[in-house]
Parts: sequence; C-alpha cells; structure tokens
Amino acid sequence: MNLSLLASSIAESPTLRLNALAKSMLAQGTPVIHLGGGEPRNKTPQSAIAAATACLNTGDVKYTPSAGTPSLRKAIADYTESNYGRKVAPENIIVSAGAKQTLYNLLFALLNPGDEVIVPAPYWVSYPEMVRMVGGVPVTVTSPEVTHIPRAEDLLRAVSGRTRVILLNSPNNPSGALYPAELVEEVARYCESKDLWLIADDIYHKLVFDGKTAPNPLAYAAPDIESTHVIVLNAVSKIYGMTGFRIGWAVAPRPIIAVMNNIQSATTSCNSGVLMAAAEGALKGPQEGVREMVSALETNRNAMLRALAEIPRVRVVKPQGTFYCLPDFSAYQKDSLALCNFLLEKAYVVTVPGKEFGAEGCLRISYCGSMQDVVEGAARIRWALDPSAPKEIRIGEKTAVRDW
Ligand code: PMP
Repeated sequence: MNLSLLASSIAESPTLRLNALAKSMLAQGTPVIHLGGGEPRNKTPQSAIAAATACLNTGDVKYTPSAGTPSLRKAIADYTESNYGRKVAPENIIVSAGAKQTLYNLLFALLNPGDEVIVPAPYWVSYPEMVRMVGGVPVTVTSPEVTHIPRAEDLLRAVSGRTRVILLNSPNNPSGALYPAELVEEVARYCESKDLWLIADDIYHKLVFDGKTAPNPLAYAAPDIESTHVIVLNAVSKIYGMTGFRIGWAVAPRPIIAVMNNIQSATTSCNSGVLMAAAEGALKGPQEGVREMVSALETNRNAMLRALAEIPRVRVVKPQGTFYCLPDFSAYQKDSLALCNFLLEKAYVVTVPGKEFGAEGCLRISYCGSMQDVVEGAARIRWALDPSAPKEIRIGEKTAVRDW
C-alpha cells in the first residue's frame, strides 16, 4: 500500500501494545502479572469526580477554548506558582490531551526539518518517534549505566549547529533516576545563554521517594518568563493517577503557546470540558492522595528492590522516583525483546524491553500495581531465569515446573 514514508517509519508504542496484550490475556483467564504498566492503581480523586459530574450535569458540553478553559489555565498558573515558585499568566499555559499531545505540539512548534533534539538515554520510548514525526532528528546521549544520570558535559558536547532542544525527564521513565539539581541548572543556564530550548518533562515531578524533591527547572530560567528558554511539561496523568482523563499542559513564553494553540485548533480543536473540569478539581482539591500514593509506591519500590536482589547477577540502580526500575538482565539474555517474550510465555509476566528505551540488556519493570503483583511477579521472573531457584512455582491455579 502507498502510505506516507514518514508515517510508515513510526513504530507502534511498545508500552501501549503490551498493555493491550496484558489486558486481553487477563480477559481470557491467563494469570498474567502486569509489570509493564505506566499508571498508578489509585482511584480518581473525589474532587475530580465531583467537578466532572457537575460539568456533565449542566448538560452543556460543547466546544471549549482551544488552549483550555480559562479557569483550568488559571489553576495551572497557581500550581506553577506554588510548586515552581514562578508567577506565570494563564496565557503562558496550554492544555492538551495528555502530556503526549502537549509535547508533540511543542516539538511541532519548535523544530524545522533536520533540527536536532538531544535526548539522554535511557529515554521515554515516545521521544525519538515524536521528534521524527515533526521532521526533527533525535540525538541520543547515553548516560553512565551505574547511575542512569546523564553527564552535563556529554549532553553539551552533543550540541551541534542544528541543535534546537535538550529534553530532560526527571524523575525518569524508564530508570526512576532523579537528576541532580546541578545538572538541571547547568543545562538550563546553557540553553538560556545559547538560545536553545530546555524541555523539562516533569510529569513525575511529585512522585519522588526518600523525602527528596525533584529539581525545579524554572528556578534556573530567565527572570522574565516571556524570554525564558525553559519549558515545563506536566499533566494530571501520573501525579493524580488520572491517565484516562488525558489532560496535560505546557508552561512557556506566550509566542510559543500561541503557535501551539494554532496547531491544536487546526487538529483537535479543543479538549473536553468535562475532563478539564476533572483536572481542575484534582488541582484544587485535597492533596493527601498524592502523598499517600507516593508512600505506597515507595513501599512497592523497596519490595521490588528486595525481590530483584534475590536474582543472582541482576543489577539495578535504586530508583528515586516514578514507579519504574530498569534492572540489567544481560547476564541472562542480552536481547531484551527476546527476554521479555520469554518471560511472558513461560511466567506470564509482562515487562517492557529496555531496547525500546535505549537500554538494551535491561527490562523496564513497573511497581505501580499491588504489593502482591510486585512480590509474585519478581518471584516468577526469578523462577524462570535462575537455575538455583526452586523448580516449581504456583502460577494461578496450577503448579508450573521449570524444564528448560
Ligand atoms: N512523558 C513521560 C516521561 C511519560 O512517561 C508519559 C506517559 N507514560 C508521558 C509523557 C505522557 O503522559 P500523558 O499520559 O499525560 O500523555
């Protein structure tokens, strides 16, 4: 079939594919443990449900302003002031269908064909595809394996005459690494001085463990938000576990927001008023739920690290945020896709191949499910891989025997 060359070159999202596969296997009664997911298991905050219900009950669900409702943009401006210490206007904010669409529109707004975007690896799987979709060129810079934290000098060395953007995501999907404030500061100041853009994907910025806090990229931005080169992305998806509401946003100088708004109005027109009301409800409502979620995720992280430590020759960097870790399984299998398929077939455990995140030899393992998923999932992985593990294990109703 004669399809666009660019469109045909874009890969399917492996995480969404594995999500759908896990759900369909579960629906067929296979006792799958899903350690590949990207969403916390909390229920939607009551304040979000109440706000969405009130909006629906008006019976007046129509088109909304393309950049987002004024009240949600104001709520996001308030969130930015209280969490980043920066006063911004609602006109510095655009709301989109999740941080994914926000980032796509942003890259569309910033890049000319051939422009380069520096992406530290390991990276979120969608970054390189999105950069390519708007004609850009992703330039990956591999972080030292022992930390998964990029070195500023490596990032800056990768800057060429075509570089337009450096994209940082901390805490990081897939590694859970929290980048040090000094790194974010150095990159932000460099971008400010060289007329480059720092995009800080802060979608996990509150999901940080051990009493730490995520570095604040806007602390190093130019004093006038209209001339800053630091753009922050965020969403209700992870912080409030509201992945299904599809509400994300960018905070940026007005001319960028205006162009993103033109892109958005020409493509999706606007976001759903019901979902924006829900996001506003979450932002303005009680915040205890976020703290509870962080504490539950930290407990799960600790359990996952203990369980992985039981598997000989698996190395993992302790995640300091998110709900992912990125253990290195290369002592068992260097090809992470083959390993992921093997674990799914033999142990009914879903993981995501590190290769998709620029970390071949590793698996991305989520601990956002139940404690039982964490413990049982890791035990099944050990059973499948470690010859010194007991040969038998209960999987669902049956006893499975390792015969390979
Ligand atoms: N950035 C990162 C680093 C992510 O992990 C994700 C979702 N997995 C997104 C952006 C997209 O978030 P949303 O669901 O709000 O589109």
